[in-house]
Amino acid sequence: MKRKIAVIGGGVIGTSVAWHLACRDAGEIVLLERDRLGSGTTWHSAGNINWIPGHDAILTMMETIATVERESDQETGWLRTGRLFLASKDETFNTFRAMADAAEAMCFEHALLDPKAAAERHPLIDPDALAGAWLNGMSGRLNPADITAAYAKAARRRGVTISEGCSVTDIELRNSRVASLKTTDGEMAVDDVVICCGLWSRRLLAKLGLLLPQWGCQHFYVIARAEQKLDRNTPSFVSPDAAIYGREEVGDLLFGCFDDNAITLEGEHGAPPDDFSFSLLEENWDQFGPYAEQAAWIFPSLKTAPIRNFVNGPETFTPDGQPLLGPYGNIDGLHVASAMNSGGVTYSALAGHVIADGMMESATPKFDPLPYAPDRFAARACDETWLRDAVSQAPSSHYRGLYEQ
Ligand SMILES: Cc1cc2nc3c(=O)[nH]c(=O)nc-3n(C[C@H](O)[C@H](O)[C@H](O)COP(=O)(O)OP(=O)(O)OC[C@H]3O[C@@H](n4cnc5c(N)ncnc54)[C@H](O)[C@@H]3O)c2cc1C
Repeated sequence: MKRKIAVIGGGVIGTSVAWHLACRDAGEIVLLERDRLGSGTTWHSAGNINWIPGHDAILTMMETIATVERESDQETGWLRTGRLFLASKDETFNTFRAMADAAEAMCFEHALLDPKAAAERHPLIDPDALAGAWLNGMSGRLNPADITAAYAKAARRRGVTISEGCSVTDIELRNSRVASLKTTDGEMAVDDVVICCGLWSRRLLAKLGLLLPQWGCQHFYVIARAEQKLDRNTPSFVSPDAAIYGREEVGDLLFGCFDDNAITLEGEHGAPPDDFSFSLLEENWDQFGPYAEQAAWIFPSLKTAPIRNFVNGPETFTPDGQPLLGPYGNIDGLHVASAMNSGGVTYSALAGHVIADGMMESATPKFDPLPYAPDRFAARACDETWLRDAVSQAPSSHYRGLYEQ
């Protein structure tokens, strides 16, 4: 008899995990989503996929996009725009050189640019605000709802059953192993579960007395209507000095930040209410304002540009900025793919591989699972004060770490 696997949560991670498991013929797979696919954090993601030398998971994601599009006949909106890494200081520009050398060694399209050349690539940039830039030709963006739909469609074609409007209310154990699920559609016997509930994973597992080391934080971007419309192929950008990133959005400029002292959510176990589907938090200009000022220094037309949209969408972070992927709690059959640290679209292929390789006990896993082990913080996961404090530093420190290696 085939082993029965339930994937709980139908965001970009749950759909990817279901598809990756189906590709390995792991068993009889069901995906249970309490609302609609993508209704949690995924629908409002900015959808950037940014390659950084040394991050193989991102190259895997780019290959995965092509495979899933082909298998599902569903486009994802993938557009390779390239990304401008903007340096306001010479020291920052120097940190780009190592990435440029790595890109060169791999024969990837890239260019180190002086400020004037950077402004030629992005018409809103003030070259006087820059020391230099690095254009990374590998990066781009896609539509998060479309990649989720593509994973789901490809998974269905491989036999996965997807139930929307089905909430898992409890996980039942027998002899320290997963036995069944209680759902709003009734009880279901299972051999394995994969918790892909994003912000809500900790709350669901707390019912078993297990506390995941993750917490939700406010996370922002805005869309500004600058006078000059941007071409859709305009490169996206990141400024490590200003802790901002952005891209073109229907001619306008989308930009967001990785803020210091991110604001952790007050909800039980760091999650918004269970019915927070297709929802956002209130605008928070007190927190976002300083980053908007930094952005206007690099892109002066932002000083007068009306804001078309303020997205304050909660996202789940961990103390070290790495996702939680793998078995958890010494309970046979219990697996977690959660806490994507604002990279869930990018890391969806990584999550799928780590979970599928682990569950299939692959002798040659595609990625080393150790950095993602959900129990790596041991008992500190139970210390809510420590956890919230560490998580609130995660967005900015992880962001800095990415570019300072
Ligand atoms: C402002 C912002 C910008 C971002 N920009 C980017 C970006 O540019 N690039 C990038 O890679 N990432 C980005 N991200 C991050 C990315 O959006 C997330 O990491 C990703 O969407 C998380 O996906 P998920 O599947 O883990 O969670 P979710 O999308 O939240 O999915 C979890 C699902 O589980 C369901 N669920 C919960 N509990 C239950 C239950 N008990 N039973 C059944 N179902 C349940 C929920 O309804 C939900 O649909 C951004 C995030 C934010 C907030």
